[in-house]
This record gives sequence, C-alpha cells and structure tokens, in this order.
Amino acid sequence: MQAWSPPAIPPVTRPLPDLNLFDTSTGSVRATTPGPTARMYVCGITPYDATHIGHAATYVAFDLVHRYWLAAGHAVDYVQNVTDVDDPLLERAQRDGIDWRDLAAEQIQLFRSDMTALRVVPPTHYVGAVEAVGEVVEAVDKLLASGAAYRVDDDAYPDVYFDIRTTGHFGYASGYDEPTMLRLAAERGGDPSRPGKRQLLDPLLWRLARPGEPSWEAPIGRGRPGWHIECAAIAVNRLGPQIDVQGGGSDLIFPHHECSAAHAEAWTGRHPFAGHYVHAGMMELDGEKMSKSLGNLAFVSTLVAGGADPAAIRVALLASHYRSDRPWSDDLLARAATRLARWRAAAARPGAAPDAEMTTFVAALADDLDTPRALSVLDAWAEDGSLAGAQMARTVDALLGVDLA
Ligand code: ZN
Repeated sequence: MQAWSPPAIPPVTRPLPDLNLFDTSTGSVRATTPGPTARMYVCGITPYDATHIGHAATYVAFDLVHRYWLAAGHAVDYVQNVTDVDDPLLERAQRDGIDWRDLAAEQIQLFRSDMTALRVVPPTHYVGAVEAVGEVVEAVDKLLASGAAYRVDDDAYPDVYFDIRTTGHFGYASGYDEPTMLRLAAERGGDPSRPGKRQLLDPLLWRLARPGEPSWEAPIGRGRPGWHIECAAIAVNRLGPQIDVQGGGSDLIFPHHECSAAHAEAWTGRHPFAGHYVHAGMMELDGEKMSKSLGNLAFVSTLVAGGADPAAIRVALLASHYRSDRPWSDDLLARAATRLARWRAAAARPGAAPDAEMTTFVAALADDLDTPRALSVLDAWAEDGSLAGAQMARTVDALLGVDLA
C-alpha cells in the first residue's frame, strides 16, 4: 500500500544522546539501543471514520521517535499497518449502505492527507490487512502445527484461537491482572464469553467465513484474519523476530499488544518481541476521551480547512507530554499559534550560537520525549534577543517536525 510523501528533513550535525523511552512492560524509562537500523512497528488505523486529533497525537509522538533516531544516525525500518478488514469497518459500511472497500479507501486517503499536512515522516512499509492475508494464513498454519493454536469446540464455526499459555510470558507486556485483562478483552473486540475456548482470554486468529462477510480462500478454511495476528505477521515478516519499539495508543496495551507479542513469540521462539512497548495517551474533548462512540471528535482536516496552520496543530499536540491523557481545545491551538509565531520571528535572527539551549532542548527530547520542557527551552531562546536563529530552527525542524522558516 502506498504511504504518503516524505517531508524534507534538515541534517542535525551534533551527536545526540541515547533516546530514553518509557516501556510499559517494565514500567520504567530506559534507553533505546537500536543497532545501525532501528526497527519500529506502530499500529495503524482501522479506516472506518475520519482520523481525529487523537490519532494525530499518537502518530506525531512516534514521528518524534523516528526523527530522533534518524538524526542520531540510524537507518529506521518503520512499519505501520492499516486494519482494512475488521468488524467496526464492516459494521459501519453496512450501516451506511456502502462497500467496505470504498469506505476504507476513502478514509485511508484522508489519513494520508492529514499525515502529509502534519509533516509526519512516512513508514518504510505501509501494509494493509487485506494485502497481508496470505501472511496471516501462513502464520496461523505454523501456530496450529506447533500446538500454539487450536480450533474452538464449535460444530458450526470451528474458528482458530491462540492458546495464551504457549509462551509462558502472557501478561508481561501490559502487566495487568486477570480481572483487568478480562474486562478489557470484552470492551476491546475480544470474546471472553465465547464457549469452547481453552482459556477465556484466548484471542481469535482466524475467523471462518460467515454469510455476508468478506473472506479469503485458505488451506485452514475460507475466512478472515483476527486483529492481533495481522500485526504480528506484518511485523515479523518485515522487521524480524525482535524489534526495538512496538507502539500505539494506550488503548492498545491490552489485548492488542499483549496478544500480538504473544503470537510473534510463539511463532519465532524469541522473547521479548519488543525492547520497548510505548504508548501514547488519549486526547480528550469537553472533559472526555475523544472517541467515535461518544462523537466528541476534532478532525485535522476540518481544522486545516478552517485555516489552522498544521505546524500550530503539531505544536499544540506537543505542548503536553505524549503519555498523558490531555485535553484538546481551540484555546490550546490559539496559544500554539502564538508560540509558533514568536519562534518563527526568532528563527530569522542573527546572533550568538545557542549552544547551551540546543543541548538542553535535545536532552529534554532524549528524556522520554519531554516536549513540554523542550518547548519551554524554545520559548526562552525566542525571548533572548541575543541568540541566533538558523541553527536552532534546523534542529527544531529535524527533531520536532515544526518548520520555522
Ligand atoms: Zn496492531
């Protein structure tokens, strides 16, 4: 699948310290230690409704990881998927009386234009679930052969499930206790109450064809992929058995990341799947988490069509820490625009090299992407009329993706 056009990234000439990130699986901030090629997988959208500012916040957060590693001299192999066949998409298409493929194509195009406007560096591989059905079939086949997967005890639809006891590590990525896992599985697309499974938390790997649902021919029986195995297959086949960062919104910690890690580990025999499990907080509007079901959404495309500068949207998203749940408001955007205007005025300024400020700015980003601190360094730099602009502007462009020209 085509991603989107890359933004220009100016070179950063100074050496950068290791990037430290909070890892959900250990509950601590630790240095990332990628090799010459850093490997990152970030879960993509399910394209059934316009991408809202909450999605933008997540992809901008991981864009900072991507940009930091690039600036630190790594090649970055970055994979993002698109869950372009799944229950929510099929339900929405049926409700609106349109073909699910058309709905997905239209929403993916909107996502691409949002990401381009926000100057998010595109992934190396942008892969749709539909494109990866063959990969999922192969992975499920292997899991069945090794005994990690089984057919549910159901005469009508003996779907394939994953046995969570396989790896001996299930639960480490999220660290949640069993009642929490059961509650979240029920809320987030799992089916703990389905009869015939070995464990209540066993996730679906392959759903056999039902009348009226899309399905693909396969030796394991005509059907369609489960959600977690889609990401495991796409990631392992492109990045190998172990990666540096598995990323996404905090609503993906469980069951999604826990299960896709378990699938990958059962398949490859390597643990842990990811060195860091990194999760971005949720955006809130009017005091509640922004969500499709609540209908309290702000859209990048609407803001841009209304005249908002995409760079100001980016600054507004970076004004709070990526891990916190944080409110979106028109006021936040207005304050970001004011800040951006001050930085842009400073970017054109001659003067002394802002060496100390640049060091502090980079150190803030290296500390679990502390953008509130990094942005306050920029405020101080802009305030100090004696400091030069060009070098700082290039660094800000490269690392924050905010163009001050
Ligand atoms: Zn995923």
